Amino acid sequence: DKDRIRMKDKSDHATTENVLDSRIKKKLHKLFERGVLAEINGCISTGKEANVYYAKSKNQDEIAIKIYRTSILTFKNREKYIRGEYRFDHVYSLHNPRKMVKIWAEKEFSNLKRLEQGGIRAPRPLLYGGHMLLMEFLGSDGWASPKLKDAILTESKSRMLYRECIEIMWKMYNKCRLVHADLSEYNILYHNGSVVVIDVSQAVDRDHCNAIEFLRNDCSNITAFFKKHNVGVMSLQALFDFITDPTINEKNMDEYLDIQMQEANEEIDPQQQIEEAVFKQAYIPQRLTQVVNVERDINLAKSGKDLIYKTLIGLKADLSKPAETPEILANKHKKNN
Ligand code: ADP
Ligand code: MG
Repeated sequence: DKDRIRMKDKSDHATTENVLDSRIKKKLHKLFERGVLAEINGCISTGKEANVYYAKSKNQDEIAIKIYRTSILTFKNREKYIRGEYRFDHVYSLHNPRKMVKIWAEKEFSNLKRLEQGGIRAPRPLLYGGHMLLMEFLGSDGWASPKLKDAILTESKSRMLYRECIEIMWKMYNKCRLVHADLSEYNILYHNGSVVVIDVSQAVDRDHCNAIEFLRNDCSNITAFFKKHNVGVMSLQALFDFITDPTINEKNMDEYLDIQMQEANEEIDPQQQIEEAVFKQAYIPQRLTQVVNVERDINLAKSGKDLIYKTLIGLKADLSKPAETPEILANKHKKNN
């Protein structure tokens, strides 16, 4: 059945060979027999860590097949996303490349499921096996939708997509309990006028020991991209606070973001730029037990100093007690009364 796997040209064929090993070919063969696949019709992408192929099922549904690379080099990069998370505590075979790469497919599948359950636009996962994942193809007439980085956008469209992106980040963190950990214009598709999240094999649970660092990085990438497109973006810290503030919910989110976006459109002064640079470097404890010197911080807070982690752990600005409303909304409501 090898000839059914038609490739566009020789160059595709060369890169195909090292991911389509004999086990994967057997698996594909079974999928043909079951009618899950009727044809594989060329390569959508050959990346550093995976190849993605275009396929159709017996009843003409379009499918994307992602096949992960099994080379040693790619595991080294991936290990830090697997370790440190309870979902994969049972995995003792991280030194075994073939087993490790299986986890990669399983992880992406389970993360896509979580996105689906959280109501976030992402390819619907179909099945996984070995180091291969089948999912819904995003595109039209066999053409894959462009990455956000390649989409041609007006300024007003960019503004809308920025808001979509940060709401997705909020939902991912708060409803799916996930941090993407490689979010950027390269792993977001522009599909039917909206953004769609892809490439979640490395996404980690909120409880992963590096989740907060990954989240800050994601915030930084998204901010940089939309800044380049002349969108008045929130400061990095404001975005980070929005995502992690436990007092924000789907009811008060719109009001909260409307205020934030108003502020975002005003000019950034040099002092703010310095604060951004500091925020990028700052150590952010995830739990109170990780705060190095609680008493010192409480005193700082009482004297009016803003602590980076107060929102994240759900405390009021003076660390006095748990907050119930986002700070900016509480201030606004006070003013109105
Ligand atoms: P990696 O970056 O690890 O190679 P991705 O999951 O980002 O893997 O996929 C690589 C590329 O393949 C994407 O940038 C996108 O262009 C394309 N792609 C991935 N999944 C789909 C899909 N479900 N539908 C259409 N195109 C896809
Ligand atoms: Mg990618």
